[in-house]
Amino acid sequence: MGLFTGRGRDCQGRRVPHLGWVLRPEQLLHPRPEGLYCPPGDFYVDPVRPVARAVITHGHADHARAGHGSVLATPETLDIMRVRYGEDFAGATEAAPYGQTAKRGGVEVSLVPAGHVLGSAQAVVRWKGLTMVVSGDYKRRRDPTCPAFEPVPCDVFVTEATFGLPVFRHPPDREEMDKLLTSIAQFPERAHLIGAYALGKAQRIIRLLREAGYDKPIHVHGALMRLNTLYQHHGIELGPLVPATDDASRKADFAGAVVVAPPSALADRWTRRFPDPVGCFASGWMRVRARARQRGVELPLIISDHADWDELTRTVDEIRPGEVWITHGREEALARWCELNGIKARALALVGYDDEED
Ligand SMILES: [Zn+2]
Ligand SMILES: [Zn+2]
Repeated sequence: MGLFTGRGRDCQGRRVPHLGWVLRPEQLLHPRPEGLYCPPGDFYVDPVRPVARAVITHGHADHARAGHGSVLATPETLDIMRVRYGEDFAGATEAAPYGQTAKRGGVEVSLVPAGHVLGSAQAVVRWKGLTMVVSGDYKRRRDPTCPAFEPVPCDVFVTEATFGLPVFRHPPDREEMDKLLTSIAQFPERAHLIGAYALGKAQRIIRLLREAGYDKPIHVHGALMRLNTLYQHHGIELGPLVPATDDASRKADFAGAVVVAPPSALADRWTRRFPDPVGCFASGWMRVRARARQRGVELPLIISDHADWDELTRTVDEIRPGEVWITHGREEALARWCELNGIKARALALVGYDDEED
């Protein structure tokens, strides 16, 4: 094992093509109960408990929590946290737009699009020639509500694996939207109630409906209002939206209506105000029939904000990192796939990130 002298050269001044063996990646990032910790920069990535300094990849509640001393995130993610937790969700904030580099001790941190939800980013952490990328949650297919995932060459790629099993292959969004539009046309007297996570999925579904030519007003549950407004504020055109919680409206007014609500509302008495509602749920988990049945979903829509098996393996193959670390999800199959493809893999089994999409 050589001594490391920095700037990508060993003690004899030779260029070291891959530094993982000289400078151990664990020196730059390693798992702690609070989350992934960076000792030289003294910060955590997506900590699940309050810490002094946090770098946050995106606004979903399992990654972005309130109560940190300081938060570095994209301006969009900071806005989302303000909407969800109030102005004083952290002691201090620093906005890092995509591609801008921030310094933490001797460590460079930059945020690069992850294609997951508005503002979602991969945290690219560089130190003494070693580059580690923490993906946060991500997907590779097109999403009209956020910029696409950008692969970054790195020594260690730290990936999620929510859908890290070969059985998880999400169909094209277009197919799922066609199912929905066909059902809407088929049942003009019923209301279509779409369960969608409040951050990201709801706005993506609305946007996909608009792209498919649906231009009528879309009814939205009150719990989605503020995030919808925030998306619109960031330039995501959602078209005409009306509240679905207006007490003056009668059941018959919702015949043929499309209503978007958080998934929890689908099991609520709230649904009784709609005429013979068709329960739809937009989630990667709708691939699993038992889950759809369990939730009483009549029309499952397999639309996910997480990479499926093909997207996960394609991404690792494209980046070809020295090592892959897997934060959460179905870790074993992806780790095995990496090993079979000559890439060292490590399952971190981080606790605190939800299996669900939000
Ligand atoms: Zn997420
Ligand atoms: Zn997550």
